[in-house]
Amino acid sequence: MKQLKDIKGVGPKTVDLLNKLNIFNISDLLDYYPYRYDVLKQTSLYEETVIISGIIETNPTINFFKRMNRLSFKLNTNEKLINVVIYNRVFLKNNLNIGKTITVIGKYDEVKNILTASDIKLFDLEGNTIIEPVYHLTKGLNNKTINKIINQELIEENIIDYIPNEYINKYNFPSKLNSLKQIHNPTKININKYLDRCKYEELFLFMLKINALKRRNNELNIGYERNIKIDKVNSFIDELPFELTIDQKEAIKVIINDLNSSKRMNRLLEGDVGSGKTIVAIIAMYSLYLSGYQSALMVPTEVLAKQHFNNITNLLKNYNINIELLVGSMTKKQKEESYERIKDGTSNIIIGTHAIIQDEIEYNNLGLVITDEQHRFGVNQRNNLRNKGNLPDVLYMSATPIPRTYALTIYGDMDISIINTMPSGRKKIITKVVDNKDIKKVLFKIKEELDNNHQVYIISPLIEDSEDEQEDIKKLEHKFKLAFKDKNIGILHGKMKPKEKDKIMDDYLNQKIDILISTTVIEVGVDVKNATMIVIFDAYKFGLATLHQLRGRVGRNDFQSYCILMTNKDSERLNIMETVSDGFTLAQEDLKLRGSGDLFGIRQSGDMSFKIANLTKDYDLVLKAKDDTNKILDNIDDYKLLKNILKENINMD
Ligand code: ADP
Ligand code: MG
Repeated sequence: MKQLKDIKGVGPKTVDLLNKLNIFNISDLLDYYPYRYDVLKQTSLYEETVIISGIIETNPTINFFKRMNRLSFKLNTNEKLINVVIYNRVFLKNNLNIGKTITVIGKYDEVKNILTASDIKLFDLEGNTIIEPVYHLTKGLNNKTINKIINQELIEENIIDYIPNEYINKYNFPSKLNSLKQIHNPTKININKYLDRCKYEELFLFMLKINALKRRNNELNIGYERNIKIDKVNSFIDELPFELTIDQKEAIKVIINDLNSSKRMNRLLEGDVGSGKTIVAIIAMYSLYLSGYQSALMVPTEVLAKQHFNNITNLLKNYNINIELLVGSMTKKQKEESYERIKDGTSNIIIGTHAIIQDEIEYNNLGLVITDEQHRFGVNQRNNLRNKGNLPDVLYMSATPIPRTYALTIYGDMDISIINTMPSGRKKIITKVVDNKDIKKVLFKIKEELDNNHQVYIISPLIEDSEDEQEDIKKLEHKFKLAFKDKNIGILHGKMKPKEKDKIMDDYLNQKIDILISTTVIEVGVDVKNATMIVIFDAYKFGLATLHQLRGRVGRNDFQSYCILMTNKDSERLNIMETVSDGFTLAQEDLKLRGSGDLFGIRQSGDMSFKIANLTKDYDLVLKAKDDTNKILDNIDDYKLLKNILKENINMD
């Protein structure tokens, strides 16, 4: 198999750069699609952005202007002779010879008769329209180079077509090679049929996997009847400090039915942030304990694992249950001791990060596995979890508010329960967009909340793990220390060690910290009931899905809570946050706003990260792929290539 380093002109340095763009082999390269196209069409000199061809009349000269290199020459356009200048592109000089026809893009100043170019193309537009693919880049690789490398490899022998012939015929799809050629070098504006072909292929492979899993789950759905002791479960529910909502009760009923049936449970529990999914998981795990089984709960972050551990330990403290916390940052010795307790059955409920599905771990009698924030994990991890222990029942939980129809398709391998109702007594979180210059008012409100013995989150806009994350947090810390001299301020960011993060979260939970300044590390799942205000700086930088998750950190009690979105920019997105509070409606708005949407955040997750298809925009193709792959799975032995894919990807025979 040809590798990237075998491509002519691609040295180790370029391979590294390509890797940075997640291109690791030839097929990744060919699938590295442009994210937009620039359409170049000759304009007059008097457009906002000028695109004009002309003949070079003078040799370019170089001089310094405002500490930049400036290249100038005269260009004869059909309209008139103009001066062209371009900054910091002296390397173009050798290509700009007198008599050559080029195309210049930029802004024209009529008074000075100077066209300041943002780009120069070394070809003639000749009145034609030229469409240029634009790729996501990394420093050191420019658009042209990427396109050139791709084009070098756009040859028949590099192409694997996954769509069976009969479906290519059915939809009258162009060949894969032709489609890729058009996508990377379009010769006309409308290339939809080529795009559709590649989108379909991607969705086809995805739905093949989902439908195959669904079939296997239906065939191999033999599990255990767990003989749930319903009376004891009910009295536990009666002892809870709150009354369950109708939807929580319904979800528990369905789950207990699943557990009692001889079918293996494979269920997704979907419910908005704060709707109370955790307690449903706890009740399920407690039920299994009563019947003599272990349960495991997997979450995406250590902070969350720790929180669930504390929460569950607290709720079950009168029931003599051994709860085990298992996370990556534990010492080898601690882990080994933990493995031992899991193996000999001392541990009844195991809570942790993906540490709990390591191969070394042997469960004693695992009856139920649950993943929280399922959208953070991929299809393959979904599978690993199922394969632990002896046919455990499986429950996935997710706060991604995907409309039911979509969920049924893209999570088609699972049964689905949805929690729509919020716990009663919750007050609507008051959300306000505030201009940066009004920060004083916000500080005043923070003081008021703190004086009422409540706590506050401050969110810095920098992305987790970015270079300046720490610095930005430190700056905020400094400012808040000045403003709130007698208050305890804690900071939390991605670069801190898990132990330090734990300590901070503990302190915050136990009200030893009044103001927690954090990056989005607290986005997922964190539950501190006494926090009543969250202030998000440069809120316009976040998508609706993230803002909604962040806002969900407050309003977890019956106290009135506040979400303040600080900004110096007008943003429709932020205004929507002011009026809309539930995730499902926000997801709809998100869709309208962006014309496509990413199904409210699931695109970040492993299996939903499509390269060209878009689950919402291309939903008609999703449905076609769903039907087609089902027909194929009926006769999978006739499709060797696809059969192999299933075998490799999801261990299917
Ligand atoms: P999520 O669905 O986002 O995981 P959680 O399970 O963390 O939400 O629940 C949010 C908060 O609501 C928790 O503090 C939990 O104890 C509380 N809670 C859950 N169910 C109810 C209920 N029926 N009534 C009152 N409070 C509840
Ligand atoms: Mg949760």
